[in-house]
Amino acid sequence: MKSFRFRLTAIILTLIAISVIAAGLTMGQIFKESHIRALEENMAREINLLRSTFDFHSISSESTEQYTAYYTEKAKELSDVINSRITFINKEGTVIGDSEMDVRKMDNHALRDEIRQAEEDGVGSAIRYSDTLKQNMLYVAEPVKSESGFDGYIRVSMSLQAVDEGMHRAWMAMIIGLVLLFLIASVISYRIASNLTSPLEHITKVANRISKLDYDARVALQRNDEVGQLAAAINGMADSLQMQMKTIRDNEDLLQRVMSNMTGGILMIDANGKIALVNRETERMLGISSSRVTGKPYYELKQHYELTKLVENSIQNRERMHEEVSVFNPGEHLILLDGVPMQDEASYRGMLFLLQDVTAIRRLENMRSEFVANVSHELKTPIAAVKGFAETLLGGGVKDEETARSFLQIIYDESERLNRLIGDILELSKIESKRSPLECEPVHLSSFFDMLNGTLARVAEKKHISLQMDVPEELFIEADEDKLKQIFLNLISNGINYTQEGGIVKLKVKALLQDGEPERVVFSVIDTGIGIPKKDLPRIFERFYRVDKGRSRNSGGTGLGLSIVKHLVELHHGTVTVDSELGLGTTFKVELPLLQQDEDQS
Ligand code: ADP
Repeated sequence: MKSFRFRLTAIILTLIAISVIAAGLTMGQIFKESHIRALEENMAREINLLRSTFDFHSISSESTEQYTAYYTEKAKELSDVINSRITFINKEGTVIGDSEMDVRKMDNHALRDEIRQAEEDGVGSAIRYSDTLKQNMLYVAEPVKSESGFDGYIRVSMSLQAVDEGMHRAWMAMIIGLVLLFLIASVISYRIASNLTSPLEHITKVANRISKLDYDARVALQRNDEVGQLAAAINGMADSLQMQMKTIRDNEDLLQRVMSNMTGGILMIDANGKIALVNRETERMLGISSSRVTGKPYYELKQHYELTKLVENSIQNRERMHEEVSVFNPGEHLILLDGVPMQDEASYRGMLFLLQDVTAIRRLENMRSEFVANVSHELKTPIAAVKGFAETLLGGGVKDEETARSFLQIIYDESERLNRLIGDILELSKIESKRSPLECEPVHLSSFFDMLNGTLARVAEKKHISLQMDVPEELFIEADEDKLKQIFLNLISNGINYTQEGGIVKLKVKALLQDGEPERVVFSVIDTGIGIPKKDLPRIFERFYRVDKGRSRNSGGTGLGLSIVKHLVELHHGTVTVDSELGLGTTFKVELPLLQQDEDQS
C-alpha cells in the first residue's frame, strides 16, 4: 500500500516535472526569440535614424583611401554613440568602413545572409559566430541609397553576450522558481496520493484484523463512491462472519455443555485411531486430561490395558460392542463400555464409546445377594431347631413330661428368635429404603429415659444388674421418639445382655455447648461387661456381624441391632462410636444435634 502511494506520488511528480520542464523550455525559447526580435527592431530603427541623419559622402568622387578613412572614422564615432558595431558596405559587398576592424582585412560581404536578405526584403538579419570577435553576434543590415552618391548597406551588429547573460539569469530565476514549484507540487501531490490511498490502507487493516478472527473490526468510512462501496461490502462480510461465528459458538457451547454435564463418559476415536473427543466424565473415570490426550493415538490410554485392548478390537472390527471392564483409578472401578461405529453409506468417521461407571450398581447387586444368603442362613438355624424338636416330639419317643416341656420351651424360644429376626430384617429394610421418614417432635429426655427404665428394669433385675440413668432434668431434644426409643433399647439391652450378673449398665446424657448454648447432646451407654475384641470393633455395625456366634446366640441376638442403631442415628444427622476394653466393659457414644434441620436444606 505504501509503495502504491509512493508510486502514485512519483507518477504525479513526473508528470508535473515534464510539464514544468516543457513549459520552462518553451518559455525560454519564446523569451529569447522575443528579446532578439526586439533587439532587431531596435537596431533597424537605429539604421533608419542613421540613414536620415548621416552625412554620406559620395564613394565614386573620392579615392578609396579617402572614403574608407571617412566611413571608418564615422563608424567609430557612431559606434560609441549607439554602443554597437557599425559597418558600411558598398553595393558590391566591399566593406568601406567598420567601427571595430580594419576594412582592408575584411572579406567581401556580398554573400552574408543579412546583406542578401537586405537586398531582397529591404531589411536583413542574421545571427552568426564572429571569427573576428570570437562571439555570437546579431547582424541587422539595410540598403541605403543617398542622393549624395552612396549606394550600399549599413549594418549594425551587436554582441549576443548580453542577451545570453540575460537569458542565463532568466534561466536561473526560472529554475529556482521551477524547483520551488516542484517542491510545493511534491507536497500537494503526496497529500493527494495519501487522500486517495489512506481509505484503502484503512480497509486493508480492517480486512487483516477480520482475517485474524477479530470480527468486531469495521471500516468507519461514509462515502458514496467505489471506496465507500468496498467499505460497505467489507462491513457486510464482517457482519455475516460474526453472525455465523456466533451460531457456531452457540452450537459448540451447547454441545460442550451437554458433554460436560452428561453422567456417562464419551470417548471418540477418529478414523485414524486418534482420540478426537473426551468429556469430563471420561476424564474423571480414567484419570486423564482431555487436553493431554486429544489428538493423540488411542493407545495413549495404555495405563488402562484391558480397556485399550477392547477399544483396539472394536476399532479394527468396526463393530458394535458392549463389555464390562475393570479400570484402576486409583481404586478398582467397573466400567461398562459401549462402542458404536460412526458410519454412513459414504464414509467411516471413527468409533464412539460410551463409558458408564457401574461399580456402585454391581456393589449393590452383590450386597443384595449377600444379604439374601445371610438372611436365609440366619433363618435356617432356628427353623432347623424348631423342626428337629417338633419331629422328635411327634415321633413319640419322648415319654417323660419334663423333657417334652423343655423341648417345647426350645421350640417356643427359637420361634420367638425367628420372630425377632424377621422383625429386625423388616425394620432394617424399611430404614434402608427410606420408607420410614423422621417424625420429629421435642422429646423431654428425662421423662423419656424414665419410661425406658420402666421397660428395662425388670430384665436388668433378673440378671442382678444395676441399671443407672444420669439425665439432666430440663433437657429437650428434637427427634423421632419411636426411633430414639429403638436406638436406646438396643444399646441398653445389649449392655445388659453382654454384662455378667452383678455388673453395672449406665446411661449418661450431656449437652454440648457452643457459644453458651446447647448445640448437641451426647448419650453414653457404659457397661462393665465382657467387652469387644479390638479387631471386631470396626465391623460390629455391619449387618449380621456378631463377635462370636456362641455368645450372641445365648443372648438371643440377631446381629442386626447395631446396624439398625447406626442407621437411625444417621437419620437424625448424628454419629455413633464405640470404645471397648475386653473383659472390662464397653462404651457406646451417640451424638445427636439438639435441633433437626429441615429435610430440604440438609
Ligand atoms: P446382637 O443382636 O447379636 O446383639 P448387635 O448388632 O446388637 O447384634 O451386636 C453385634 C455384636 O456386637 C454382638 O454380637 C455382640 O457380640 C457385640 N456387642 C454389642 N453390644 C455389646 C456390648 N455392650 N458388650 C459386648 N459386646 C457387644
